[in-house]
Amino acid sequence: MGAVEAEPVQQQRQQLVEVARQMNACGVNQGTSGNLSLRIDGGLLITPSSLPYEQMEAPDLVAISFEGESLVADQRRPSSEWRLHADLLRHRPDAEAVVHCHSVHATALACHGMAIPSFHYMVVAAGGADIRCADYATFGTQQLSDLALAALQDRRACLMAHHGQVSLGASLPQALALAIEVETLARMYLQARLLGEPPLLSGEQIAAVERQFTGLSYGQADAP
Ligand SMILES: [Zn+2]
Repeated sequence: MGAVEAEPVQQQRQQLVEVARQMNACGVNQGTSGNLSLRIDGGLLITPSSLPYEQMEAPDLVAISFEGESLVADQRRPSSEWRLHADLLRHRPDAEAVVHCHSVHATALACHGMAIPSFHYMVVAAGGADIRCADYATFGTQQLSDLALAALQDRRACLMAHHGQVSLGASLPQALALAIEVETLARMYLQARLLGEPPLLSGEQIAAVERQFTGLSYGQADAP
């Protein structure tokens, strides 16, 4: 690959830097544990390993194929969680971007292996009646990707046991907005549970929310 990238890729790099900084500013990221990626021609653009976002500039982002091969000479090392991003983007053509983070409340539930049930209508923002929790696997492994993909069946977000959360989007801002929503729901659910397990919305009530979302084009519409 040549040193000069096409203009659209440069714009994608700039957007990724901006959304990474927004992720820090909104508080869902913990240290350098969060990472983001965006689909590009032939693979993905992903945040680099161990570089604080305040210091990160567009050229620091790493372009790799879905197999993890470098698409640009002499670039930084990709996030240690690149395989999760690559596998999700490869197997989910409806997603253009992935946000992964260890946001505190979502991770607290994930450490108990708990899903977020239909205690609040906004769970539908992730695509269905609940936000599942993927079983535990070591970070960076194929097994983790496989378990996350299974938990993301018909969904755009899931928790990951003893680890964190991952959210998909048709764009980076949408993926970040969903990650923030998942964290907010996790926080509300933990609060609600202080008074006991809250009652859940019925399948019929969830179906009505889905119809309302579709009508309002609220959240992220599924790819046709
Ligand atoms: Zn992680």
